[in-house]
Amino acid sequence: MTSSSLQAYEHLIRNVPDFPKPGILFKDITPLLQNGPALRAAIDQLAEITNDLNADLVVGVESRGFLFAAALAYATRRGVSLVRKPGKLPADKVRLDYALEYGSDTIEMHSDAVQPGQRVLVIDDVLATGGTAGATAALIQQVGGLVVGAAFLIELEFLGGRVRLGDIPVRSVLKY
Ligand code: AMP
Repeated sequence: MTSSSLQAYEHLIRNVPDFPKPGILFKDITPLLQNGPALRAAIDQLAEITNDLNADLVVGVESRGFLFAAALAYATRRGVSLVRKPGKLPADKVRLDYALEYGSDTIEMHSDAVQPGQRVLVIDDVLATGGTAGATAALIQQVGGLVVGAAFLIELEFLGGRVRLGDIPVRSVLKY
């Protein structure tokens, strides 16, 4: 099996209609996570499509993003920093409130999670509307980090989330 054969595992991404709300088709990656060769192919492909960005550090978005960020960081010998939901991080932190389609959300990051000038790659499982990834990039930039790219296992292209990332290069393994 080569690292470019993740398409062979697309059936391991389960479509769950009307979760968590009516009208949302949820892309459930847990069957893929349970399959060793598929997980390896996914991480290998994330590494391949982001190699040219020359990141120093990977930032993972809670919570499924942590799985891919940590595995990618390990595979590429980089460190990983965390962007979390409010109230989870113990030390000095920065926070950002951002608008969702309906309502708002908040994310936090330790103030020293990214060093000024550090080249950072943002990782999450799914790019949907781009609100979360856009807010994550803004938080990293707020502490002086350079966001060199954002990468996702799955991009829901029809939602146009890339726009929320402006000029930041966006890479994805599987597009729907
Ligand atoms: P967004 O901020 O709209 O790009 O949403 C991104 C976050 O919500 C990611 O962390 C995803 O894990 C999750 N998400 C949004 N839509 C879906 C979906 N259809 N299937 C699975 N996860 C989703």
